[in-house]
Amino acid sequence: MTTHVTIIGAGLGGLTLARVLHLHGIPATVYEAEVSPTARTQGGMLDIHEGSGQPALRAAGLIDEFRGLVLEGRQAIRVLDPDGTVLVDHADDGTRGNPEVLRGELRQMLLDSLPAGTVRWGHKVSGTRALGAGRHEVTFADGSTVSTGLLVGADGAWSRVRPLLSRAAPEYIGMSYVETCLFDADTRHPASAKAVGSGSLFAVAPGKGFLAHRERAGTLHVYVMLARPRDWFAAIDFADSAAATVRIAQEFDGWAPELTALIADGDAAPVLRSLYALPIEHRWERQPGVTLLGDAAHLSLPNGEGANLAMYDGAELGRALAAHPEDVEAALTEYEQAMFPRSAAAAAEGIQVHEMFYGAGAPHSLVDMLTGHERTP
Ligand SMILES: Cc1cc2nc3c(=O)[nH]c(=O)nc-3n(C[C@H](O)[C@H](O)[C@H](O)COP(=O)(O)OP(=O)(O)OC[C@H]3O[C@@H](n4cnc5c(N)ncnc54)[C@H](O)[C@@H]3O)c2cc1C
Repeated sequence: MTTHVTIIGAGLGGLTLARVLHLHGIPATVYEAEVSPTARTQGGMLDIHEGSGQPALRAAGLIDEFRGLVLEGRQAIRVLDPDGTVLVDHADDGTRGNPEVLRGELRQMLLDSLPAGTVRWGHKVSGTRALGAGRHEVTFADGSTVSTGLLVGADGAWSRVRPLLSRAAPEYIGMSYVETCLFDADTRHPASAKAVGSGSLFAVAPGKGFLAHRERAGTLHVYVMLARPRDWFAAIDFADSAAATVRIAQEFDGWAPELTALIADGDAAPVLRSLYALPIEHRWERQPGVTLLGDAAHLSLPNGEGANLAMYDGAELGRALAAHPEDVEAALTEYEQAMFPRSAAAAAEGIQVHEMFYGAGAPHSLVDMLTGHERTP
């Protein structure tokens, strides 16, 4: 294949695509808005799934390197009632199939696997336009442009490539996360460290809850979930960390102190992560020379699958392009025809999972899901 592939976005999806293309000898350039690999901390732990993330890493020839990043014992799961009662306490006995890694380390592994210069940092796309005959022009924030015969939007929720294919825009899902961390928790926050245990903690109730993961060196990475309108969050000044922390913690009055401490005693400034989704059946008519992957294609409710699917999309698109070296359109058609139903099914499942976590039956609906118990209404 002689077409040079232009990928927008050096997230996990775009980098997996670049790596698989590299293995097949297909030239690619990734344009990334961030100015360097370390410009932003990359978020918390990801469990890499047997049916999506792991096959993608195998296709990328990186499964052994990935295994070296796995944080042992982190597949333990605890579910606590708001009053601190332990409802589920599953140890990591080594038989679970979705090992946990740090997102930043996974991304760095992918970056290290690419030839120098593949990623062009500090290239924020401001617009894209069709030139005809399957070619597209990409404009960057500094006014420079490139034109390409194959453009892939791997630029996440607010993709600048998506408008070439679809009018859909993400909509607020009615809830947001507030993210913080507790450092050296076994020494400095022992009650919260004990509540989280050695892996993941879920302490949930209808419309609110805590998700916390134990990372390296006693760091607890915390997501506070609250179902509130955007205006409610907009009234909180997150630039004033102390006041924002107090305001969010107030929503958990009456919860066990080791749980409220997960926000109240946060060592990092709380960061608001507003959550958006595209329509579940988001798809588009095939347009020559351009496609999307990952969140750009199918941003959905948080369900622990988004990063896994983005990598899987990247691997599958790379495989399809390698399988049809003389026919880019055949490759894009094959990729999209499989990706549309795959991502729609995952998004629909995500809604069910979301309901188990935060719906009217929480936390017992979550307990039932984790224990395989059927509760009669
Ligand atoms: C709080 C939170 C927790 C999550 N937890 C999990 C989890 O546990 N497991 C899981 O599987 N998924 C999780 N997800 C979902 C997951 O983060 C996403 O689905 C995944 O990151 C999508 O990967 P991507 O490569 O498609 O996009 P992204 O990771 O968003 O990468 C897009 C890249 O494009 C770049 N970019 C954006 N705009 C431009 C532009 N205009 N020009 C150039 N570059 C641009 C960005 O800087 C970024 O590097 C979580 C999401 C959130 C918000």
